[in-house]
Amino acid sequence: MKITDEQVQALLSMLSNTKDDEADCGQCMQHMAEFAETTLSGKSIPAGLQRIDEHLESCGECREEFETLKAALGEEMANP
Ligand SMILES: [Zn+2]
Repeated sequence: MKITDEQVQALLSMLSNTKDDEADCGQCMQHMAEFAETTLSGKSIPAGLQRIDEHLESCGECREEFETLKAALGEEMANP
């Protein structure tokens, strides 16, 4: 029995989907500044940052870190 290209693609996208679904704390920290700038500038959150948003919802530690960063960035933007 041979696996078709289609099946391989389906499998690969399944794997990458589960991987994409949840960001861990490391990934969250990595994109936090970018995410904070995006939210502060009022832009819509790109797909790549959606999972950061989701992680912040579920992770208190990162959320705390994020609030601090956002406050600092917000001040910077208000007083250039
Ligand atoms: Zn976290």
